[in-house]
Amino acid sequence: MTIAVFGGTFDPVHFGHIEIATQLAEHLRIDSLRLMPCGVPVHRQQPIANANQRLEMLGMAIADRPQLAIERREVEQSEPSFSIDSLRRIRAEIGPEHTLFMCLGMDALEQLQHWHQWRQLLDYCHIVAVARPGAQRPTKPPLKRWIEQHQSQQPAADESRPCGHLFFCSVNLLDISSTEIRQRLKQRRSIDRLTPDAVIDYIHRHHLYE
Ligand code: ATP
Repeated sequence: MTIAVFGGTFDPVHFGHIEIATQLAEHLRIDSLRLMPCGVPVHRQQPIANANQRLEMLGMAIADRPQLAIERREVEQSEPSFSIDSLRRIRAEIGPEHTLFMCLGMDALEQLQHWHQWRQLLDYCHIVAVARPGAQRPTKPPLKRWIEQHQSQQPAADESRPCGHLFFCSVNLLDISSTEIRQRLKQRRSIDRLTPDAVIDYIHRHHLYE
């Protein structure tokens, strides 16, 4: 069994998230890639849409993607969402032998050294970083050095290595962000083709991000 989680705020979910998650699921040969919305983010402003609204939009966005699922554990807890805690719990549930990937965009990887207990993340999972327009591979120590120490070339699931490595993965780039969607809505501009139509309808029905 191979499991992957892709954490984020998803405020709101967009095609960047969905396309990358779909491509990663295929590339990593995993049956179920879990999108994991955070409840109370630690390193950024609080989401505008509430947890239930973000979950509903995510559900609509992945309805036609059987390889994607939603991991609700962080939105169901009231304390701040530390990835290390979620990964530790998932690892305890799946046992030591199964492969666990944590997927993130390059902008998130650039910030990794500010995450709680970041050096311990690889005790529980592999990290898969995908390119994102405008974001570069980290260039500053200690993160750069740590990446060099743990980087590996082949991200395919391998039972002999259930965790402990970092991979860079090329996917088709999509220059979309939730920030852009929120800004466009504030300015009453169209968000067509940035997120699925069902999510656009939901946003308008609930007067989100106006
Ligand atoms: P915001 O603009 O509010 O910061 P966002 O678009 O970056 O939101 P998040 O929910 O914060 O979306 O991102 C979740 C994860 O998805 C992060 O690891 C982020 O790097 C990644 N990600 C989001 N959009 C893209 C994209 N277009 N290309 C690559 N990675 C992305």
